[in-house]
Amino acid sequence: MNYICIECGSKFPLESNAWKCSCGGLLNLEYEKKPIDFKSTAAARDHSLWKYIDALPFEKYDCWRGITLGEGDTPLIRIEGNLYAKADYYMPTLSFKDRGAVVLISMAKKLGGGRVIADSSGNAGTAIAAYSARAGIKCDVFVPAATSDKKIKQIEAHGAAIHKVPGTREDTAKAAIDMAESTGLFYASHIYNPLFWEGTKTYFYEAFEQLGRLMPDAFIIPVGNGTLLVGAYIAFKEMLSWGAIDKMPRILAVQAENCAPIFKAFVGGMDKVEPCKNLGTLAEGIAIAAPARGAQILKVIRESGGDIIGVSEESITEARRSLACQGIYVEITSAANYAGYLDYIKKYPELKTAKVVFPLCGAGIKSS
Ligand SMILES: [Zn+2]
Repeated sequence: MNYICIECGSKFPLESNAWKCSCGGLLNLEYEKKPIDFKSTAAARDHSLWKYIDALPFEKYDCWRGITLGEGDTPLIRIEGNLYAKADYYMPTLSFKDRGAVVLISMAKKLGGGRVIADSSGNAGTAIAAYSARAGIKCDVFVPAATSDKKIKQIEAHGAAIHKVPGTREDTAKAAIDMAESTGLFYASHIYNPLFWEGTKTYFYEAFEQLGRLMPDAFIIPVGNGTLLVGAYIAFKEMLSWGAIDKMPRILAVQAENCAPIFKAFVGGMDKVEPCKNLGTLAEGIAIAAPARGAQILKVIRESGGDIIGVSEESITEARRSLACQGIYVEITSAANYAGYLDYIKKYPELKTAKVVFPLCGAGIKSS
């Protein structure tokens, strides 16, 4: 098992704690996995994503197996007709980030590290802190100085050391990277570390099982740093190679139009994403002005025959209200996904009858 540079193909052992190649390229993960028997996983009583151990980067009897909080196996709720919402806000720390955090922290534990570093303005930091606590690992979380007290309190409650960094989200990432580089500690990054997607890919395994071992026609996926979207790509590629599916579902990505660098690059026919100015959006979880994996995200959307749209602040607010009126209270960022669906069916009326799944990524009480 190695990290492999997506630019030059250089390989790094996981023990190196590498997070980027010396050529500047970002890293993917390379290892042998076995096909999943979806008949048996669908019937499994193991309510955690460890039931997919055959396609996770661990051996069956590794000592880390105790690291679980019952993540995964979230409900698929029929909204109307063939439209489904997958309720990942039912997770232990109330967001889909637990899928990635359990894999990242389990690997840090397996590698023998007693301390990890993360940077996040919200849900990822909370998930990393909770799973580190579960694993008995020390955790340093870098957050922008302007992060709300509510979020910081939850991270601190799990015993993590908080480092408040003045300036932008990018300044926060730089401070975390500086510490990771100077100490050689495991960088539990949900942006740079490809182990995170080994967890988020299970969202798509579950949807497939829940729809009777069939993929929907399309997945609506919110995009900031692409943590769910790259997981989708990995899951689809695996399932194609195992013969579980014969074509890739469409990825219909969503950004907030006030911070939509990937949307702009996509409609401009670009292969790379230019950083944009964040004009301010309520959907703060996907407000990433300079996504590190922009080029990779563009490639994935195009390869799936997908599309991307930008949604307005008004439509996000209205979508949140509409979901709440149906009994579903999600954080504002998650409402962008439903807003995206409502915009997509105007653009593609045929989607009204197609089978579509969108995620409810985080619980409503996370938003102020
Ligand atoms: Zn390289």
